[in-house]
Amino acid sequence: MSNQTQNTRIEEQIRDAVQRQREYFRTKVTLPVEFRLEQLRKFERLLRAHEDELYEAIFNDFGKSRHHTQLTELFPLFEELGLAIDHLKDWAKPRKVATNLLNQPGKSYIVAEPLGTALVIGAWNFPYNLSLTPVVGSMMAGNTTILKPSELPAETSRVMAKIINENFDPGYLHVVEGAVPETTALLNQRWDKIFFTGSPQVGKIVNEAAAPHLTNVTLELGGKNPAILAEDAPVDVSVKRLIWAKFINSGQLCLAPDYVLVHKSIKERVLERMVYEIEKHDYSVERGNFTRIINERNFDRVVGLIDADKVYYGGESNREDRVIRPTVVHNISVDDPIMQEEIFGPVIAVLEFETLDEAFDIVRKIEKPLAGYLFSHDRETKQRFLAEIPFGSGAINDAVMQITNSNLPFGGVGNSGMGRYHGEYSLECFSHMKPVLEKYFDFELDLKYYGHSDRQMNLIR
Ligand code: NAD
Repeated sequence: MSNQTQNTRIEEQIRDAVQRQREYFRTKVTLPVEFRLEQLRKFERLLRAHEDELYEAIFNDFGKSRHHTQLTELFPLFEELGLAIDHLKDWAKPRKVATNLLNQPGKSYIVAEPLGTALVIGAWNFPYNLSLTPVVGSMMAGNTTILKPSELPAETSRVMAKIINENFDPGYLHVVEGAVPETTALLNQRWDKIFFTGSPQVGKIVNEAAAPHLTNVTLELGGKNPAILAEDAPVDVSVKRLIWAKFINSGQLCLAPDYVLVHKSIKERVLERMVYEIEKHDYSVERGNFTRIINERNFDRVVGLIDADKVYYGGESNREDRVIRPTVVHNISVDDPIMQEEIFGPVIAVLEFETLDEAFDIVRKIEKPLAGYLFSHDRETKQRFLAEIPFGSGAINDAVMQITNSNLPFGGVGNSGMGRYHGEYSLECFSHMKPVLEKYFDFELDLKYYGHSDRQMNLIR
């Protein structure tokens, strides 16, 4: 079959799938909260029943251990599902807000309205969490949903498609597997919501595709996340937290600290302690605390960023196994190739600074990151960090852990994305939060009609 014929066929199948979802949404069956809860409970039961398959698939895709998958994929996903099931009834209720004098007698509230048919496009690095957590949000909101998981972890994509497509009405929830042709065909359709997780480059393609229909878009992208170790940072515990955060999933984590800005006075101790922490973990795929690089393309890209002259520790790699040993590079300057793109691998770049201004200037020269981290006791340093450094989400005296608190929204800013989700924010993300003023008929307060003096108008404003 020629490429063109194949693409036409993909396009037709996808058009039918979206049409089916639109018709399903129009039946209004997804509107009652009870229906949504029933589907969420069913989804949770299915995922629990297939847990072993989920672990096996991701291990086969990139050597991710059961423990690792539990901690970073399924625990957070089940937490989101549990929160949705426990709180949806409350979250979905109209939210009361105060009513101003001009609108008395009356009341005001915000109604969470489903958007319609949603497209969720997932990334490969935490394929379950990043594909299915947004799906939970869309189900909470009462939408119909098509999920396109990343094609790179092929078994993981297949197992999600199997669980969902064998158990849900395709009009309600459906998985379309595939790579660029399928995603392009999906993006050619009209959607009511597109939720995309991936790189800023593809994020721009998604945004362009959404523009003709003014589709509501959430972009969960990446960037170069700074970690700043101020002069007063307690070295041992800061580095312990930093190293753990950096090497989860072998650094293939959108929130991982990408580069570390260390005050000159503590730099040597920080470097030594980094080595101590890395060796203490004894990272390896076999021990279950390290993963392979997802594919050869990414392996070559990350290895290409390691300047042999600047390696402080590590630097070894094995292309056949797609493993790069934890690596620390130092004496890095902002102009080095490693500072020109998101590393997204097990390499940490260390830069030194003398004044906070210097450190903050470096961070501000780079596109707004998905996350920002500061290690310091000092109140003024913390205030300046929050006021002067833009980032999607962040932590002070820790890294990555902000994502585990579902009371905090998660999302980027500028080049690292737009929109936010998790917990109650996921419901908002997939809904239109419809503001409503409801007037009573009891009596008419004539304030809005003509004939008032300036003084009276000032009183009611
Ligand atoms: P990617 O942008 O290459 O792929 C993401 C998705 O887009 C995949 O489903 C893929 O099939 C699709 N895609 C790829 N090229 C496309 C094209 N030309 N047209 C249409 N669709 C296309 O990203 P990735 O490699 O899967 O993930 C790595 C990036 O994602 C990093 O930048 C990372 O920081 C970011 N990320 C962000 C988050 C977050 O929550 N903010 C989470 C994980 C990863």
